[in-house]
Amino acid sequence: MTTVTRFAPAPTGRLHVGNIRTALHNWLLAKKAGGRFLLRIDDTDAERSREEYVEAIRADLAWLGLDPDGEERQSERLDHYQRAFEALQAAGRIYPAYETAQELELKRKVALGRGLPPIYDRAALELGDAERAAKEAQGIAPHWRFKLDHDEPIEWDDGVRGVQKFDPAQLSDPVIRRADGSWLYMLPSAVDDIELGVTDVLRGEDHVSNTAVQIQIFTALYAALGEAQQIAQHLPRFAHEALLVGSEGKLSKRLGSLGCDAFRERGIEPQALVALLARLGTSQPVEPISDRQALVDTFDLATFGRAPAHFDDADLERINAAIVHQLEFAAVQHRLPEGIDEAGWHAIRPNLSHIGEAAEWWRLVTGPVDVPDLSDDDRAYLAQAAGALDFAAADPWHALTNALKQATGRKGKALFLPLRQALTGMDHGPDMKELLPLIGESEARKRLEAAAG
Ligand code: GLU
Repeated sequence: MTTVTRFAPAPTGRLHVGNIRTALHNWLLAKKAGGRFLLRIDDTDAERSREEYVEAIRADLAWLGLDPDGEERQSERLDHYQRAFEALQAAGRIYPAYETAQELELKRKVALGRGLPPIYDRAALELGDAERAAKEAQGIAPHWRFKLDHDEPIEWDDGVRGVQKFDPAQLSDPVIRRADGSWLYMLPSAVDDIELGVTDVLRGEDHVSNTAVQIQIFTALYAALGEAQQIAQHLPRFAHEALLVGSEGKLSKRLGSLGCDAFRERGIEPQALVALLARLGTSQPVEPISDRQALVDTFDLATFGRAPAHFDDADLERINAAIVHQLEFAAVQHRLPEGIDEAGWHAIRPNLSHIGEAAEWWRLVTGPVDVPDLSDDDRAYLAQAAGALDFAAADPWHALTNALKQATGRKGKALFLPLRQALTGMDHGPDMKELLPLIGESEARKRLEAAAG
């Protein structure tokens, strides 16, 4: 059976580092198995969902190079949820409840006060027809709960966490539909996973108890809908990855709000983010791997740890610089200042932490450069250098420094530094061997003469 994974963001904001990671892992899992990666837009919450975020999610995935093999929107599948709801209702697995949010909160507090887990007490299940009719006559519309089956423990072998066991009696019957008829997350997600043929559900560990509930929903749906819809009747594989925390060691607000747009503006390359997030929290080393296939080939849920993964900006910057140093000219050409050719890119690339710095380094080639403050001795040396330039040589830098070495007896720093300072206005920077041909003969002579005074 073809592996099908899905990434299911709610379009209520930009993708942040936590859900970028989930998207990436689902993409890798699908690609590794030669399967399909679906984007599912969880937009049943009409009030909070925004079209601009749907577009931003698509654009962010495209920027990251995580193109989905298909897209579904929950808002376009409402009839499927209605059908599932009716089937579950007919099977006696859904019941109306009338408590207000305040009443539920009070029940929770009372349970906690007695040292009991705050599980819904199923009071609504005890209501008779007359009592329900009375509620509705008072204008109280019900919300709807899925009735968990308390008879069997819920169990699955989690791809990251190993065997998971839940006692359903320790879980609240989940509210699956609001009084206004709108859907909460729990049922639509299970319906979609079934109908879209999702074979692997990989998500954050904040969803572990949802999985316990959804396993019962899946099973109930197989029984209620299975034959009519000819759906595959076995559960997807579930895996829950440990959450991402900031370097400070706790779930940080900053991380949760760090969107793709912010990374992009900061000059982070998508390959850097992908290389870091692919391996963070696994037993595999985080390396600046820009070859996507290499990440696909080495992806393995068995290497995922159960401890929270620490996201550190310094790691990201380090990986980013290393990735920039590998980027080929053709891939970055459109982002470089005009005039930089392939040789120019190769000369300055090792000095960049971000591509945006290219302009700054390229100014060393185009000039003007600041004339350095030098000793009389160095100025005389530079005058001599201006006369020793030899651009007919295959390697003008080598030719120049060799000639000067022999003529002056200078070596090391005394030989090289004044030349670099005069030619670039700086004490450090790109390899002069690559830079000098780019500066060109007449400009180089002009700079050396200017520094010589
Ligand atoms: N929309 C849900 C979320 O973002 C999807 C969870 C899931 O993967 O099932 O948390």
